Amino acid sequence: MNRLLLLPILGVAALGAAPATLGQSTRLQLELPVACQIGKTCFVQQYVDHDPGPAARDYRCGPKVYDGHSGTDFRVPSRAAMTAGVGVRAAAGGVVKSVRDGQPDHRGAPGDIAAVKAGGLECGNGVVITHVGGYETQYCHMKQGSVSVRPGQSVAAGAALGQVGHSGEAAFPHLHLSLRANGERIDPFSPAASNRCGQSGPSLWAPSAQAALIYRSPEVINAGFAGGPVTPDSVEAGGIGPASATGPALVSYVRAIGLEAGDVQLLRVTAPDGKLFAETTGPELKIPRAQQMLFTGKRNSAGRFTPGVYRARYTVTRGGKLVLEHVAEARL
Ligand SMILES: [Zn+2]
Repeated sequence: MNRLLLLPILGVAALGAAPATLGQSTRLQLELPVACQIGKTCFVQQYVDHDPGPAARDYRCGPKVYDGHSGTDFRVPSRAAMTAGVGVRAAAGGVVKSVRDGQPDHRGAPGDIAAVKAGGLECGNGVVITHVGGYETQYCHMKQGSVSVRPGQSVAAGAALGQVGHSGEAAFPHLHLSLRANGERIDPFSPAASNRCGQSGPSLWAPSAQAALIYRSPEVINAGFAGGPVTPDSVEAGGIGPASATGPALVSYVRAIGLEAGDVQLLRVTAPDGKLFAETTGPELKIPRAQQMLFTGKRNSAGRFTPGVYRARYTVTRGGKLVLEHVAEARL
């Protein structure tokens, strides 16, 4: 989202957070804005768009972006994870410029989004922080009732701001982080190249955050086994129960993000004896896919699955080359 319609600015000038003689030290260094493990318990779903035209490319020229996207989306794997609570943190020290709370968390249904747009509430519940050097960070889609700072408050890097939510114009629970320098949007991954991709200079991330934010595309955000049918909705909801030897079925599922045109997916499950239990192949993708789910399995026609370890291997190949492998296991 782009629009900034948060509460009025309060008391920023009076706090005088920026000493006049910072010189070189005014270069911003961002810490992770979410209290989760990138690549394990949360995932970068979308980056800033670096394509000046109607196409969309992230800073690496990859597909994890949509046209005009103005920030970085940190996604949690399910609504269950959101409900359990994932903290949002100040990416750098500064002064809270504005906040909004009270917007409901929703499921991204079209009716919800239309109402959100009509009300100019695309950011949902959010926080804007001003930093020295003319920088601003904005945190969007936070959980209703979670915003824990107030305008005018000084915050240190890492300070708790609230929790990841699903408010505003958001199709899934995530934190949208925008960064602006003197009012212009910039990409912290490649601040010097806003209109081209693949030429990133030094990022604005602190070294530890940069290490955590290594580029991953494609990547798996959910994988496991279920004892019955699995749908994109049930995976997004989270909390899929464990499979059992006597359940109605044994289904392996995987959801991946950041797939490119031409990618071919394979999900292959082997039984405890090492023999093929079930498999499915995703057809070669014609266009990039922000996310894709694959599942395969069998009904329990014999009344009991052979006990032991079932192994699901998910692979993505691109131009015949393996670009992603993920293994999940279940012991029945
Ligand atoms: Zn976003």
